[in-house]
Amino acid sequence: MSLSYPITYIKGISLQRAGLLYSELGIKTCNDLLNFFPYRYIDKTQFYQIKELQPNSSDVQIVGKIIRVKSVAQKRGSRLVATFLDATGTMELVWFKGQKWIKDALKINEPYVVYGKLNHYNGNFSIPHPELELVKEYKKKLQTKMQPVYPSTERLTNSGVSNKLMRTYVQYLFKQFLNEIKESLSQEIIDDFKLMSKRDALLYAHFPKSQENLTKAQSRLKFEELFFIQLQLLRKKLINKTKIQGFIFENVSDHFNLFYSDHLPFDLTNAQKRVLKEIRKDVASGAHMNRLLQGDVGSGKTIVALLTMLLAIDNGFQATIMAPTEILANQHFIAVSQLLQGMNINVDILTGSVKTKKRREIHANLEDGTLDILVGTHALLEDKVKFKSLGIAIVDEQHRFGVAQRSKLWGKNTLDNKDGLPPHILVMTATPIPRTLAMSVYGDLDISVIDELPPGRKEVKTVHRFDSNRLSVFKFIRDEIEKGRQVYVVYPLIQESETMDYKDLMDGYESISREFPPPKYQISIVHGKMKPADKEYEMQRFVKGETQIMVATTVIEVGVNVPNASVMIIESSERFGLSQLHQLRGRVGRGADQSYCILLSSYKLSPEGKTRLKTMVDTTDGFKIAEVDLKLRGPGNLMGTQQSGVLDLKIADVVKDSKILVAARNTAITLLQEDPNLSKIENAPISQAFVKMNKLSKIWSNIS
Ligand code: ADP
Ligand code: MG
Repeated sequence: MSLSYPITYIKGISLQRAGLLYSELGIKTCNDLLNFFPYRYIDKTQFYQIKELQPNSSDVQIVGKIIRVKSVAQKRGSRLVATFLDATGTMELVWFKGQKWIKDALKINEPYVVYGKLNHYNGNFSIPHPELELVKEYKKKLQTKMQPVYPSTERLTNSGVSNKLMRTYVQYLFKQFLNEIKESLSQEIIDDFKLMSKRDALLYAHFPKSQENLTKAQSRLKFEELFFIQLQLLRKKLINKTKIQGFIFENVSDHFNLFYSDHLPFDLTNAQKRVLKEIRKDVASGAHMNRLLQGDVGSGKTIVALLTMLLAIDNGFQATIMAPTEILANQHFIAVSQLLQGMNINVDILTGSVKTKKRREIHANLEDGTLDILVGTHALLEDKVKFKSLGIAIVDEQHRFGVAQRSKLWGKNTLDNKDGLPPHILVMTATPIPRTLAMSVYGDLDISVIDELPPGRKEVKTVHRFDSNRLSVFKFIRDEIEKGRQVYVVYPLIQESETMDYKDLMDGYESISREFPPPKYQISIVHGKMKPADKEYEMQRFVKGETQIMVATTVIEVGVNVPNASVMIIESSERFGLSQLHQLRGRVGRGADQSYCILLSSYKLSPEGKTRLKTMVDTTDGFKIAEVDLKLRGPGNLMGTQQSGVLDLKIADVVKDSKILVAARNTAITLLQEDPNLSKIENAPISQAFVKMNKLSKIWSNIS
């Protein structure tokens, strides 16, 4: 007997059913099923009589008999109706799906326990798709006060895999395999945190005796889940640190020093200095750097990236910086070129719109080492792009790139590089990730944070206005333009309703054009359907101050830097996510003037929408906003992709269980300090469980 047996070992699970359980729920082995937890529990201690039912009763449990079953034709297809009665009255049980299968299985005139959601229609009660169990079966079962309800899918229900059946499977599992459940934590940890044994925890997580008992069982399992993830991440980090070699940038010479003394246009903030120190330590250590740089919008990540690239160049390497959009790549290129003016460093840009001839020139210059810094979009990931010796790759706004793209950077060809060492990697993100989440997702990455904005920035004043206040908003815009400022007006463009959104944008553009007519006012418009060259042209007019208003979709969300723009109007702001709103607001407040963000919305706001807008009005702190966002949307979404396999947690929740996460992480750190190879006898349960968890090795956790 082993828990790794396929679930076909469980009585009643045919090959076909096993296939379905796998495709629908990902359950393959007995162990998978054991770790497939109920999402809620129902209290079934209470029985009702039919005459006691009230129109507003919800879930009810009744004992009675079925006396008749018939098919009733309806508009489309038919429904199966069973007449059910007890000593006090009659009601109906109804099925719309799986009718044939159910009809055959129903027993007439035998006592059943029926459970389900009560419907009330025209004075009649019915239960659609009830759970049914013969009383004689019901009595045989181990009855707990709280019954588990398992997640399910339509396909499963339709093919007869009811919640009751799932419960039977799990019960069978516990009967047969109880002794196979091995402890996976050391006695010391169990004692320290007063945890339940693994066996009890699993049993009571499925079949709790009470709410309190359930909570204890769950916290043991949550602790364990988070503990092993942390152990995995921390071990990986340890191994990377010692095993994966990196280029050594030991010289800090000409370029870096010259730039620092003569070209740096401002003093670095303390946070920038600290982060730079962390990076310098990494790249001089001989180990490979894999660092995440978090810094709120406008915190000045670019200059840190540039100085890091200069370090590479001083040591005879090339550097590259990759941005998610062409506009942003261009802006980096312009910023970097300007900052490096008068220094003997070659910079170029490679994007999708670079013509073949120019492209060839870039390729050649990269390969012979003439080019020092290449800025670009994902175009620079193409195989044809080969570096002579790439020392560092910087990825800006990382959440927009997929894992595969990043791994390509890691393996980027470097012609001179005989040892096959990967370039150092610095990933920069303006989407602040709450600490708990960062811990669980990036546990093996080093994290630097710029937690300070450059001096002199004024907090962006943010207000929420309803659409009906538009006229006063227009007046405000006029006043600001009068003072010489520039204004963004942003419209949502969300894929599913693209044509609608596009129309909104165009209507908006027209009404703004009417309010702000030429020649006094000039307006730019930028959206995703425009050709890159046209976009660029319009952007540049705004950057140069030739236009006062920029009407745009979220294409401007990332990175655009126009310090003179001081007003951000967001149309239909209730449709934006929090992090998007925060990013958009970050486009203003970059100069010395007081800036404003006006969130326009209709009166119809969902509770979530309300919370989002209120959060924006209440705070400009990116981390606070990220916390709220995480709570509203859950971690998977926050990352913007499904890449974070590590967040595919079975029982723990990085938001709600952040305390347990911290405890688990600290425990893992202590353990690795005392027993890095998990070879001590008292840690045997841990190391055995750890080895078995080969599944966890699939965790998305590094750049490679
Ligand atoms: P982000 O972190 O959003 O990429 P940027 O690097 O674009 O931010 O910097 C935002 C603006 O702040 C730029 O105009 C930049 O020149 C300026 N800046 C960056 N660091 C400082 C500093 N230490 N002092 C003053 N201005 C700074
Ligand atoms: Mg930036």
